[in-house]
Amino acid sequence: MSILTVTLNPAIDISYPLETFHLNTVNRVAQVGKTAGGKGLNVSRVLKELGADVLATGFVDDILGAEIVENLKSEGIDSRFTKISGKTRNCIAILHEGQQTEILEKGPRILREEAEGFIDNFKAMLAEVEAIAISGSLPDGLQETFYSDLIAIANKQEKTVVLDCSGRTLEAVLKNPEKPSVIKPNLEELTDLLGKEVTLENIKESLQDRLFNGIEWIVVSLGKDGAFAKVSDDFYRVQIPKIDVVNPVGSGDATVAGLVYGISQHERVENTLKRANVCGMLNAQEAKTGHINKANYQTLFDQLKVEKI
Ligand code: ADP
Repeated sequence: MSILTVTLNPAIDISYPLETFHLNTVNRVAQVGKTAGGKGLNVSRVLKELGADVLATGFVDDILGAEIVENLKSEGIDSRFTKISGKTRNCIAILHEGQQTEILEKGPRILREEAEGFIDNFKAMLAEVEAIAISGSLPDGLQETFYSDLIAIANKQEKTVVLDCSGRTLEAVLKNPEKPSVIKPNLEELTDLLGKEVTLENIKESLQDRLFNGIEWIVVSLGKDGAFAKVSDDFYRVQIPKIDVVNPVGSGDATVAGLVYGISQHERVENTLKRANVCGMLNAQEAKTGHINKANYQTLFDQLKVEKI
């Protein structure tokens, strides 16, 4: 089984661990960590760890792009990115005194012919995969309808699309007639979208808003409280046990990996919801973003409860 992941604005994620961070002077770093970053690349890594074949795509330049491709390759992940003339970004996390200070570059502007080149590549790659996971925000230069254009192409070929984005980008997709199969908002994102506070008390009616018409799976991730989901006309509550958390960054991406994997394997809905949550939890138990330890998979899986409500 092969899954395509779309990361339009990937990065080299750099981490600088410092005992103390000194402002306005020199900080020397002995142990620099560098990995291929971006939400879709986290999804790719977890998918690979689940046992899927993964093809990663997006836009990269020649220099940092080559590092990203190499890094993915070392983890067994194939990629076919569209080359751009702009510069792929670095994202820096300074880890100091138990805190994390981040410096995130905005990333390059995509030219029109580069966007068109990507669409051609995307069409060609679709033939080789069963499902697509699209994650993150749109880089500058792309039209607001770019994700909807990708979804329309995928829908024509009857491929499942899991979309994980937020804000105006998600709103633009929801207002377009071409719908993804799955979205994964959290309560904050739903609140933004609907312009009213969404809580566990009013979530059922909130997910029946006409904005979500035509979307088969809406999975609302709730951090330590698990998830709530609407699948076709059914509602599900996923209860998870309390766990020791090391680093929850990337748990939402791991959840997306679980969803796209389970759906493309035609698992039962309850199983896919459990799988998605277990992936999120396993990611939260690791220091590395977008990584799960599968050895702990079954023990956690057996402790989850999915209730139809
Ligand atoms: P997002 O970052 O996209 O908002 P969440 O924080 O809801 O995503 O995390 C996705 C999933 O990961 C949750 O549904 C849950 O299963 C798991 N998870 C995340 N944080 C925790 C936590 N602190 N304890 C247990 N599980 C967690």
